[in-house]
Amino acid sequence: MSVHIDPKIFDSYYNGCCNGTFWPLFHSMPDRAMFCAEHWRAYVQVNQEFAEKTIKALEILAKEEPADSGTPLVWIHDYHLMLAANTIRNIAEERNLKFKLGFFLHIPFPPWDIFRLFPWSDEILQGMLGCDMVGFHIEDYCLNFVDCCQRRLGCRVDRKNLLVEHGGRTVRIRPLPIAIPYERFVQLAKAAPRVIDSKQKIVLGVDRLDYTKGLVHRLKAFETLLEKHPEHREKVTLLQIAVPSRTDVKEYQDLKEEMDQLVGRINGRFTTPNWSPIRYIYGCISQDELASFYRDAAVALVTPLRDGMNLVAKEFVACQINSPPGVLVVSPFAGAGEMMHEALISNPYEIDAAAEVIHRALTMPEDERTLRMNYLRKREKVHDVNYWMRSFLKAMGTLITEDGDDV
Ligand code: UDP
Repeated sequence: MSVHIDPKIFDSYYNGCCNGTFWPLFHSMPDRAMFCAEHWRAYVQVNQEFAEKTIKALEILAKEEPADSGTPLVWIHDYHLMLAANTIRNIAEERNLKFKLGFFLHIPFPPWDIFRLFPWSDEILQGMLGCDMVGFHIEDYCLNFVDCCQRRLGCRVDRKNLLVEHGGRTVRIRPLPIAIPYERFVQLAKAAPRVIDSKQKIVLGVDRLDYTKGLVHRLKAFETLLEKHPEHREKVTLLQIAVPSRTDVKEYQDLKEEMDQLVGRINGRFTTPNWSPIRYIYGCISQDELASFYRDAAVALVTPLRDGMNLVAKEFVACQINSPPGVLVVSPFAGAGEMMHEALISNPYEIDAAAEVIHRALTMPEDERTLRMNYLRKREKVHDVNYWMRSFLKAMGTLITEDGDDV
């Protein structure tokens, strides 16, 4: 069952409200956010259309499924659909339909001081509170949400148990960090051919070309590294893959131009007849090919200014099957930075310090690299994407075990 949206409404909804407002605001970059009533109306309309289609699906299920076949679960994903749950609940309850509603937000949830800037913030909270359970990547985002519910809507909240009372119901809020299909990446790494020249040390960056990813800061840190530690010249190359993204939005077009210029300037400054410091790929490559870079890079830089989780950090770790392994550098402002404690932590805003962290990663003794990477890999192996899905269903109270029991 699909939802058909008028292209003009879709443009206001997707490029306008989702990518022009919620993306920067929820990443705590309010100066980049537009607040536009027309975009908001399109967002409300599209959410309404998704909610109506969901109701249709629930009605079909109610007719087709035997009465004892359990409660249907509606799992809503991400900032594109923050209003839908409330509408689904209202209509489904009126029509006596059975349902459980869950929501997962794949980006950060901002603190109250930022969230309150959005003119229709009460409607967003009410929309999400239509669920039985709302999941975020990390506890900080949960606490931000609970705080906003209390301050904007006056809800009674329990911070310790992450509960919000709303409309006579109690909504569970849960940190459920998303993960990757770990074994799949291990297999990809085993099968991938070698494409990196073994005489070169590669510092790897893999990101959508997005202003939240800290790419300009990263290039400047790499430039500082070459300035302050000339011993890395002609030995180390930054391989930056930048995937074209949201190319209809002006902010993204401006960023592309800035990156092109910066790469040109740094390469112009340091290139020798045998070596260029930055290899910049503006394009998307397959995960099969990525696995080869992940496996053979000496260092991976995952240094966003803000990021809900960041899967690249986890994919890199899964592909580190070489001995001795490489080094992961993460920003404390990514969800991944909250939990991957054995990585080197680097504040992307501090350019000089970030250059020193890259230097430390490049010169780290083998036994330290091995120890850190073993811990990182163990965690991602256990907490893989299947574990994430089971945790969500368990938190919803809808996970059926192999014995047929509700957990
Ligand atoms: N990716 C890809 N090809 C590329 C670059 C990235 O398939 O050339 C994938 C990468 O494997 C990862 C995803 O894109 O699964 C990026 O996810 P992440 O959470 O790091 O960032 P997002 O783009 O969702 O903000």
